[in-house]
Amino acid sequence: MEKILNYIDGSLIEPVGKQYIDNYEPATGKVYAQIPDSDQQDIDLAVESAKRAFPKWKALSNDDRFRYLMRLAKLIEENIDELAAAESKDNGKPISLAKMIDIPRAASNFRFFATAILHFPSESYEMPSTAINYTLRHPLGVVGCISPWNLPLYLFTWKIAPALAAGNCVVAKPSEVTPMSAYLLSKLAIKAGFPKGVLNIVHGLGQKTGEAIVKHNDIKAISFTGGTQTGAKIASIAAPLFKKLSLELGGKNPNIIFADCDYDQMLKTTVLSSFSNQGQICLCGSRILVERSIFEKFKQDFVDKVKKLVVGDPNNNKTRIGAVVSKSHQEKILSYIKIAQDEGGKVLCGGHKINIEGRCGEGYFVAPTVIENLSQNCRTNQEEIFGPVVTIAPFDTDEDALSMANDTQYGLSATVWTNNLKRSTHFATHLETGIVWVNCWLLRDLRTPFGGIKNSGVGREGGFEALRFFTEPKNVCIKY
Ligand code: NDP
Repeated sequence: MEKILNYIDGSLIEPVGKQYIDNYEPATGKVYAQIPDSDQQDIDLAVESAKRAFPKWKALSNDDRFRYLMRLAKLIEENIDELAAAESKDNGKPISLAKMIDIPRAASNFRFFATAILHFPSESYEMPSTAINYTLRHPLGVVGCISPWNLPLYLFTWKIAPALAAGNCVVAKPSEVTPMSAYLLSKLAIKAGFPKGVLNIVHGLGQKTGEAIVKHNDIKAISFTGGTQTGAKIASIAAPLFKKLSLELGGKNPNIIFADCDYDQMLKTTVLSSFSNQGQICLCGSRILVERSIFEKFKQDFVDKVKKLVVGDPNNNKTRIGAVVSKSHQEKILSYIKIAQDEGGKVLCGGHKINIEGRCGEGYFVAPTVIENLSQNCRTNQEEIFGPVVTIAPFDTDEDALSMANDTQYGLSATVWTNNLKRSTHFATHLETGIVWVNCWLLRDLRTPFGGIKNSGVGREGGFEALRFFTEPKNVCIKY
C-alpha cells in the first residue's frame, strides 16, 4: 500500500511520530494509501527549514523565481495523466473533470503568478516641492497555506504559487481527505530543483497538523480555504498573534433566472453550476430562484436533464457525477435531504444514495437531487450542504429575487441570467456577494479579485490581491 510522505527541507520523509492515517478511495470505499499523521514536531521541522531558506529565496530576482514556478507548471502539464488519475481516485470526481479542470488549472496557477510577479507594481505619491513617497513590498517570511478537499490541487496551488512568487517560504497542508496530488506535487517540486525548504508540504489532520501551523509563532500569515466554522476557529487563534489572515469560506450561492434570459444556455449552465464536482464547489449555485412565468417550464426541463446525468465510476469517461468525498460527507448530504423533507420540501428527483455495481459497490454516491416547496428561511435554504442538492423556488419581482438572494449569512458568489442590461447592473450592484456572474458561471480570469463577504470570508485571492496579501507594504518618504 502506498505511503505518502511529508516534503520537508527538500526531502520526502516520514512523520517524526511514525504515525499514519488511512486514506480512502471514495468510489470504492476502500483504503488505498497511508497518510502521515503529522504533529507539532513535523511542523517545527518544516518551519525551521523554511526560515533557513527564506533569506536566499527572497533575495532572488523575480526572474529567477519566475523560472522555478514555470518549471513546476510545465512538469504539472507533463504529468497531467498521473495527476488527474490520482485526484480522481482520492476525491471521487470524474477523471474527465480532473483532466479538464483541476490539473490544467494547477499548472495555470503557477504560470499565472510566475508572470504576475514580473508585473507587480507599487505606489508612489509625490508631495509637490516637498517630498516623494514610495511603497516597498517585501515578502512576509514563512507563511502557512491550508486547503480543502473539493478541488485539491487547484486550490492548494492557488495559495502556494502567489506566496512563492512574492518571495515567501511556505509550509502547506492539503486536506487529509485528499492528500495524494499534493504528495505528487512535492515530487515534482524536487524535480523542478526547488531549493530546500522553500516549499514544505506536511500532511495530517486539521485539528492537529493544521492547528500547529496556525499557532506557530514564526508563521507570519495564514491563507486558508475551507468551512466557515473552521475559519472562525483559525481566526480566533491567529488574530491575537497578529498574523495576516486570508479566509475563503463557505457559500450558499443564489442562481437567479429571469424569463428574458437565453434559456438554452441558462439551462445547460445551470446543470453544471448545480452539480459539477458532485455539487462540491464553493461556487455552485445551490439556491435556484426562477421568475414565476417560466418556473413550471424550467422545473420540467431542468429535472429532465438532471435525471439524465450519468452517476458512476469516476474512471468512466461517460460519468458526469462521481462519488462524494467520504462516507461521513455522504451521510451529511443524506441527512440534509431528510431535513428538507421534514421541512415540507418535495423531492423532484434524486434524494437517495446510489449503489453502483462492480468495483464501486461500496462507494459513496448520491443521486443529483432537486427539491422545491421550501421556505426561504428553512435550514435547507440557509445552511451549506456542499453536495449534489439544489432547491428551486419561484419569485415574482426583481426586488423579491434580490431579497431572497441576499437572505443568507453567506456572500460568496451569485449568478444572474437576464438579457436586460439595466437589471443585470442593478443586481451586480446590490447582490451581497464577492463575485457576480451574469449569463455565465465559473468563468474565471485569474487577474480578478476572488473571495466572499459576510460569513464567506475575509480578504481576496487572485491577481495582485494575492500578491498584496503575501507582501508587507512599507512606505518610504524622502524630503526634497
Ligand atoms: P474544512 O474547514 O473542514 O477543512 C479545510 C482545511 O482546514 C483542511 O485542510 C482541514 O484539514 C483543515 N483544518 C480543519 N480544522 C482545522 C483547524 N482547527 N486548524 C487548521 N486547519 C484545520 O473544510 P473542508 O475540507 O470540509 O472543505 C469544504 C469547505 O470549504 C466548504 O465549506 C466550502 O464551501 C469551503 N470552500 C470554500 C472555498 C472558497 O473559495 N471560499 C473554495 C472551496 C471550498 P483536514 O481536512 O485534514 O481536517
